[in-house]
Amino acid sequence: MAGTHVFGEIIDGEVYKYYADGEWKTSASGKSVSIINPTTRKPQFKVQACTQEEVNKVMEAAKVAQKLWARTPLWKRAELLHKAAAILKEHKSPIAECLVKEIAKPARDAVTEVVRSGDLVSYTAEEGVRVLGEGKFLVSDSFPGNERTKYCLSSKIPLGVVLAIPPFNYPVNLAVSKIAPALIAGNALVLKPPTQGAVAALHMIHCFHLAGFPKGLISAVTGKGSEIGDFLTMHPGVNCISFTGGDTGIAISKKAGMIPLQMELGGKDACIVLEDADLDLVAANIVKGGYSYSGQRCTAVKVVLIMDSIADVVIEKVKAKMAKLTVGPPEENCDITPVVTESSANFIEDLVMDAKEKGATFCQEYRREGNLIWPLLLDHVRPDMRIAWEEPFGPVLPVIRITNVEEGIHHCNASNFGLQGCIFTRDINKAIMISDAMETGTVQINSAPARGPDHFPFQGLKESGIGSQGITNTINMMTKIKSTVINLPSASYTIG
Ligand code: NAP
Repeated sequence: MAGTHVFGEIIDGEVYKYYADGEWKTSASGKSVSIINPTTRKPQFKVQACTQEEVNKVMEAAKVAQKLWARTPLWKRAELLHKAAAILKEHKSPIAECLVKEIAKPARDAVTEVVRSGDLVSYTAEEGVRVLGEGKFLVSDSFPGNERTKYCLSSKIPLGVVLAIPPFNYPVNLAVSKIAPALIAGNALVLKPPTQGAVAALHMIHCFHLAGFPKGLISAVTGKGSEIGDFLTMHPGVNCISFTGGDTGIAISKKAGMIPLQMELGGKDACIVLEDADLDLVAANIVKGGYSYSGQRCTAVKVVLIMDSIADVVIEKVKAKMAKLTVGPPEENCDITPVVTESSANFIEDLVMDAKEKGATFCQEYRREGNLIWPLLLDHVRPDMRIAWEEPFGPVLPVIRITNVEEGIHHCNASNFGLQGCIFTRDINKAIMISDAMETGTVQINSAPARGPDHFPFQGLKESGIGSQGITNTINMMTKIKSTVINLPSASYTIG
């Protein structure tokens, strides 16, 4: 971690610095924000509580740096991103160690997140060179009433300053999925990391610093979202916001100015299981989809909608697999680790107790110690229970038994969310028809929902988001089209 020589300059005493104007700085506020280790429930790290004045300076510097960066050849931008990706991968261990301490991510998964992030940055550099290296040439005579007197040249230009706000669950990966597209497209980037996960994110930013990006182009300001969030998202210097998180995104969308928004918000991903499905495959995907990283994934399976006739068999298979999940600290690579905060654990418990009072069947005994919640499957959940609709973001999964597929589709579509969903059946024709009927951004056939591979389009309908992510879509979203029209004195037609 910071003790590691290369990261020594990012900490001042026991408080991590913020990054502005190409330097690591201590905030004039004299205040810091504590990051609580979800496992020990004791303070682990501290970050600066940046002031509004410091945010203003960051925005000014970003604006200046962006003008020069936009004039930097595309291949050079790509070269620097490749360099940052290599440095990031080289330092995967100290960064992963922060993820373990800040968000209780199992150690192995934490390393995977950093490596995947390096790959994402490299892929973005390559994709950017292709996507941004091409424009369009249009001629006027295709539109009625025109001769071929106008040639239109259009290309993609940067937006200016992009504000990136990722959530706690993938503070490195969901930060670079915004940073790399913004930079390759010629934008400046201001990062507001999540408080839980901020130190891992600051280490990642240092890798970009070491790669040698120009001063002021990239900055990272820390502080509680509830305190500096509004000031950042409503700042006149921001030309685009890319946000991933919960309901906060809805509030930001209402407050932000007339700028492009990319919002990736919550989900209640439904898993619809038909009678002809491969039931072993179903059980494996329910366990992987529902309980990986203790259910704290936007694309976790969050409700199982299963045909009553096969429910007993599948539930037995799921229970057998759940019994093998290890529960404990992230350092020991346990499958189920403590959830991120005590308030998250309390929220999950409220949903579980509400379901209990209303008659759900618990397939295991409910057990909690501090932030650690043992994996729980709830059978016979009904629509009057909160857990049928709300996102627990924890290792608890409701099962609703259905008697026909229409019931499953209806429940899925009645949700305010529309992120992903999945269908298990051996009948591809049925699968396509159900997929078409599901109001979600993506439907997976015969696999649990997933965000990756990172170049696939990724989007939510309804309250799950605005716009589409995925490497190519994000690059495009962080640009706008500029045209230059050449007006000829008389029509000119090329002869073949
Ligand atoms: P969150 O509470 O909405 O926080 C997300 C980010 O917003 C954090 O960086 C947070 O900073 C910041 N923030 C808080 N208040 C703010 C404000 N007023 N203005 C600007 N920023 C503010 O979400 P979370 O608990 O970190 O993440 C869990 C949620 O994210 C779940 O709902 C999950 O489904 C969703 N998620 C969605 C996707 C997707 O791609 N669709 C992916 C992952 C997660 P602080 O930490 O400092 O408060």
